[in-house]
Amino acid sequence: MAQADELERPARPPAPDAPQPAHAGRDWAAALETAESTTPTPAPSDEVGFMGSALYEKGKTVHNKRIDGPFRRFKWAVMAITLVIYYATPWIRWDRGAYAPDQAVLVDLANRRFYMFDIEIWPHEFYFVAGLLIMAGIGLFLVTSAVGRAWCGYACPQTVWTDLFQHVDRFFDGDRNARMRLDKAPWTLAKTTRRLAKWAVYLAIAFWTGGAWIMYFADAPTLTWDFWHGTADPVAYATVAILTGTTFWLGGFMREQVCVYMCPWPRIQTAMLDEKSLIVTYKDWRGEQRGSLKKAAKNPDAYGDCIDCAMCVAVCPTGVDIREGQQIGCITCGLCIDACDRVMKEVGRPRGLIDYATLEQCDAEAAGAPATPAWKALLRPRLFVYFGVWAGIGAALLFALGTRSHTDLTVAPDRNPPFMLLKDGSVRNAYTLRLRNMEARPREMEVALEGLPKGAVMWTDAVSLENAAPRQTVTVPANATQVLRAYVMLPPGTEADDDGLAFTFRLTAQDESDSAQTTFAQPAKTTPEDD
Ligand code: SF4
Ligand code: SF4
Repeated sequence: MAQADELERPARPPAPDAPQPAHAGRDWAAALETAESTTPTPAPSDEVGFMGSALYEKGKTVHNKRIDGPFRRFKWAVMAITLVIYYATPWIRWDRGAYAPDQAVLVDLANRRFYMFDIEIWPHEFYFVAGLLIMAGIGLFLVTSAVGRAWCGYACPQTVWTDLFQHVDRFFDGDRNARMRLDKAPWTLAKTTRRLAKWAVYLAIAFWTGGAWIMYFADAPTLTWDFWHGTADPVAYATVAILTGTTFWLGGFMREQVCVYMCPWPRIQTAMLDEKSLIVTYKDWRGEQRGSLKKAAKNPDAYGDCIDCAMCVAVCPTGVDIREGQQIGCITCGLCIDACDRVMKEVGRPRGLIDYATLEQCDAEAAGAPATPAWKALLRPRLFVYFGVWAGIGAALLFALGTRSHTDLTVAPDRNPPFMLLKDGSVRNAYTLRLRNMEARPREMEVALEGLPKGAVMWTDAVSLENAAPRQTVTVPANATQVLRAYVMLPPGTEADDDGLAFTFRLTAQDESDSAQTTFAQPAKTTPEDD
């Protein structure tokens, strides 16, 4: 290899006859269109993958090379954090007292509750879940507008599990070249054994993944015990079987084809990216015309910084050649940056031939402007708007969560009959009350009548007519909704119009209260003409 100082040269515009990459015209929409129409870029291996023939073209196995660098280390960190969160969360205990489950995160379908540490969401509070989903959607818009497909490159489950499976490949079959050789080798006993061992590990990971999922829906230790003793609900076994199968197939074999063919997100993202979005980009004005070190040494002025080593392609987990411009297969993981920076260091040229940059920054750099720090691309109105909306919804949800009442009352009057005329001329109405206690302890609650004339009294199934009064006390169990039959009676001669008397049931528990309006039905008034 030539000495670094011999090869160092300033950056310069492309040679006039240099090939033009997809985004060279600086028309972002056209570049994406071209990228879509030409993707996927052929994978580095011409081996047909386990997929055999795929829906659109033959599946090709990507044997990506191991690389180290800041982006790879960041990817390791995200992978470790997300996997630990996913597998460990159901096992975290959280003391909510004797009347609620002690699992920190639990979707309790049987009792229609969602628990997340100190937060408990009831079915009638589904707007919290809807709000979180909206926040997640806007968060994705925000991240995409800021740093392109960073979600795809680092945190998407498909990416994380594919990465994990690719490391399993590396463990059993070696790095890229060894894996390519093994793929081409005949099916000997040694190859078969190795493949079976590798697929067994795939299966174990997939099973563990499916198994972890069901733990979010029941008490994890109890469900684990039941599962292995054959006494769990059949739905649990079916769910684990389905998730094991899909993880095994999508992570172990489909891999980047999920991103290219199945996932709608890359298509949506093309509408969100513009020339100010940070993306992983090859600086063609600096790299072209490509040429080996040998050629460049002979004619330095004719060649750019790219030595055409294809390291950026070899490390790419989706088999993309980023030098051909933006492509739908590029998940913006940055591994090609690590690879190229390493190459540039070895040949003594400045880093950043492939880098996170906006097309606008690239244009400026190509025109001779000094390089702009990538973070400056984050300071633009669109991101502030997205962030403002996202944070506003988050703040509203937090406010609603902090100020919500833990009591709730609903009332349904009996319709048939709407009233009972008693012997002494008094009128009785019956109601079904639902008293909700959203705290993890039983609470004494008072139900009171408001807005009815003097003499109105109430009793319930548990309180006899002799003890009827304008207010009654009820003990509602912890975390429960108590259904109460209440009877309200007005003395004879109470005036009311034909629509009945509007009044309120008020539910009070310590310093909280809730109310529900309803009406008291009475017999229609009789007039002399009626007689
Ligand atoms: S790693 Fe860098 S130098 Fe090598 S081919 Fe890719 S862009 Fe060119
Ligand atoms: S081209 Fe680079 S950033 Fe895109 S997926 Fe491949 S390695 Fe990742």
